[in-house]
Amino acid sequence: MAQLKFIDVNKVYPNGYHAVHDFNMEISDGEFICLVGDSGCGKSTTLRMIAGLEDITAGEFYIDGKLANQTSSRDRGIAMVFQSYALYPHLTVYENLAFGLTLEGIDAEVIDEKVKATAKILGLTDYLERFPRALSGGQCQRVAVGRALIRKVNIFLMDEPLSNLDAKQRVTMRSEIKQIHRSVGATTIYVTHDQTEAMTMADRIVVMKSGGYVQQIGTPYELYFYPKNLFVAGFIGEPPMNFFRGVVEDGKFVGHGLKLSVAPLVNDVSAVEGKKVVFAFRPEAISLEKSKGDYEIKSRVELTELLGDTTNVYATVGEGEEKVNVILKVNPHNAPSMGSDFTFRIPQVAAYLYDAETEEIIENNIKRH
Ligand code: ADP
Repeated sequence: MAQLKFIDVNKVYPNGYHAVHDFNMEISDGEFICLVGDSGCGKSTTLRMIAGLEDITAGEFYIDGKLANQTSSRDRGIAMVFQSYALYPHLTVYENLAFGLTLEGIDAEVIDEKVKATAKILGLTDYLERFPRALSGGQCQRVAVGRALIRKVNIFLMDEPLSNLDAKQRVTMRSEIKQIHRSVGATTIYVTHDQTEAMTMADRIVVMKSGGYVQQIGTPYELYFYPKNLFVAGFIGEPPMNFFRGVVEDGKFVGHGLKLSVAPLVNDVSAVEGKKVVFAFRPEAISLEKSKGDYEIKSRVELTELLGDTTNVYATVGEGEEKVNVILKVNPHNAPSMGSDFTFRIPQVAAYLYDAETEEIIENNIKRH
């Protein structure tokens, strides 16, 4: 296992593009970390710097307390799984798994033992004699993971390993990779653009934004309930958070025809007076029951979508120029009908207030559970 540390790590490509800015983080032995963010935000670049496939332009990168900026890729104790799993088509699963070890000149008996043990972990025992063309996408991906796993490594790096699979296989492989991680225990860095993948797999998530800027690092719970800026608030959660834009006047959020007291949401009301702000809440955080202190919002239902366990309600708040779209999740048995007026409530603990200019959350001590 390995402990990793990054101090102000930056990557500037030879063409001058600054792909990662001041990456700072400590990763404990055996942690499962997901790097998440839109395409081009610097996730793969970060992973490739960890792997030693890209130079670190500035900053320090440590493995187990030792400066590793200049350590060759081979000596970092890493294994990597890429999006394209590139199995050797003319070799069986057994041979694909054994390939790297054979090259290293390891004893055939030892290889046999390792191949069988790895196949067992991955549920590939019955497929060892098959060729890749006779496997499903999910099975191919398992062989690719197996090829990385079979070498005793301390750090496991994965770059979008599930993106070539269909939705159902992805869900299955998600839990398989978690189980493998639990049994192998290697520190794992996993790159994905899919926030659901990150939420379900990671011990901690790093949210990155285009330009290579880290936005927040935290557990899935922290990112979901305590998003520290508007980018993370909008990125984590599906459907995304609802945002009302307005200004604070006389201690109230004013916008979209609403007047909502900000006192429950901030530590210091006077500090936000006159500020442009964003009032935010999650689609599922609304309540239909009346209870003291809740924010009461009137909306007009445009469309409803029954998903089975829940109904998504697409509605508008405000009139004319002030109109804004919201998405609400309601119990299908209480779903309003299309075209109707719909009053919903937001409990104070489920509402967030962000500074519209800095896009950071405004200081508060709210316990959100
Ligand atoms: P992600 O993995 O988040 O999709 P990448 O780390 O692959 O993003 O890329 C980050 C940014 O760096 C992108 O804008 C990409 O075009 C740029 N980039 C990647 N590789 C190179 C390179 N070799 N030279 C110049 N720019 C690059």
